[in-house]
Amino acid sequence: FVRVRFAPSPTGNLHVGGARTALFNYLFARLFIPFLIFLLILPRFSHFYTDLERSTRESEEAVLKDLSWLGLHWDEGPDIGGNYGPYRQSERNALYKQYAEKLLNSGHVYRCFCSNEELEKMKEIAKLKQLPPVYTGKWASASDEEVQEEIRKGTPFTYRFRVPKEGSLKINDLIRGEVSWNLDTLGDFVVMRSNGQPVYNFCVTVDDATMAISHVIRAEEHLPNTLRQALIYKALGFQMPYFAHVSLILAPDKSKLSKRHGATSVGQFKEMGYLPNAMVNYLALLGWGDGTENEFYTLEQLVDKFTIERVNKHGAVFDSTKFRWMNGQYLKLLAPQELAKLLGHHWKRTGILMESEGLFVEEAVELLKDKVDLISDSENALTNFLSYPLFETLSSSEAKPVLGDSLSEFANSLLAAYDSGELFDALNQGKPGWQNWVKSFGKSVKRKGKSLFMPLRVLLTGKLHGPDIGASVVLLHTLGSGDIVASEIG
Ligand code: GLU
Repeated sequence: FVRVRFAPSPTGNLHVGGARTALFNYLFARLFIPFLIFLLILPRFSHFYTDLERSTRESEEAVLKDLSWLGLHWDEGPDIGGNYGPYRQSERNALYKQYAEKLLNSGHVYRCFCSNEELEKMKEIAKLKQLPPVYTGKWASASDEEVQEEIRKGTPFTYRFRVPKEGSLKINDLIRGEVSWNLDTLGDFVVMRSNGQPVYNFCVTVDDATMAISHVIRAEEHLPNTLRQALIYKALGFQMPYFAHVSLILAPDKSKLSKRHGATSVGQFKEMGYLPNAMVNYLALLGWGDGTENEFYTLEQLVDKFTIERVNKHGAVFDSTKFRWMNGQYLKLLAPQELAKLLGHHWKRTGILMESEGLFVEEAVELLKDKVDLISDSENALTNFLSYPLFETLSSSEAKPVLGDSLSEFANSLLAAYDSGELFDALNQGKPGWQNWVKSFGKSVKRKGKSLFMPLRVLLTGKLHGPDIGASVVLLHTLGSGDIVASEIG
């Protein structure tokens, strides 16, 4: 049966590339019965021994939180345990030692006593001779006596993997098809450092094999590692898993997507107001499509439709404009109360409003909902909206001389309605009050439609454009006269 894993290095936040890898693993595994996705958190070993331990833990928690937020749940892992634990590399040292010794005994690895200086020199010589910078195999065929002598002297040593000096190795990648490598340029590589730390390629092979992983789905950049891991699988007599290497996520300029292109981590997108289902949907489209024009999928639909064969082997461009648009589509699908809740919380959190609920929020959301693709867009939309100087233009002494002749007559009538309290009273009765008032006001000034509403908008709100004028004015009136909200506006 199918067991997959997601093995991020907890050295920071979950990157969109990592999130997509996790998603593809999830979709792949969930299609099978018994479905089992298996999550493995692998700190790169160096982090375990340094004082980064705490930040490693924090980052591990952040990664798990981001995965949960996306709705990608796992069946085993460092937080919930499982039959194949421990799930942190830093807790599996004894296992790595055991398999390293096994490889030493079977002759697949040997002790290498070369110092760093020696290794550097080898590289320089190779460069001069225009040869690949690989280990020359100095200790590959040392006699037992020579080895024992160095051990006696206490010379530090690494464990090096004995790579066959000729031939090739191939795998059948589920996305890329047959991938093959010539072994003659690989060189014997280190599996365990002189301080006893196993290296990534060795740990990951031992982990995947002992955790019965059936499919390794990961980023394309790990292909060179797959060659080394395949050699280790063979040497340990483990059955090799299927491999699928997913292409890179590219920036619009076709370089690898990185921080300089803007937000790249799940946490950042979450903060900016993206919705998890929009994010899952967009990530799925990065290198996958079901062959139809359709681009909208829920996670459940993706589980249903996803096949690894349809994952594209070419890099996928991360189009932030499209992602933003897609999020807007998801926002529009939300029920009004749900959207009001989200936006209200956001406004409260960012200090624009003091309360996150109530009629004002509902009405404001109603007015602004078509103007936001991101929850954070609504901040600007709302502050813009709230900064309408209701009546200010109308009542300012500078306004009149600026208005043309026909408008000044209009303005005078409006001013009269304002001064007498008639407009204020009407607004006190909410939308119906406004509607009645505007009807009779239109009659009295002999205007209707645009020629009525446009100058009304300008005079009442000081702006040429905005959401529905009646709703805006009523809402702003509530805000101005009421018990509601608004901290510093403007
Ligand atoms: N820690 C590696 C990474 O995050 C794991 C790669 C793998 O899946 O083997 O890229």
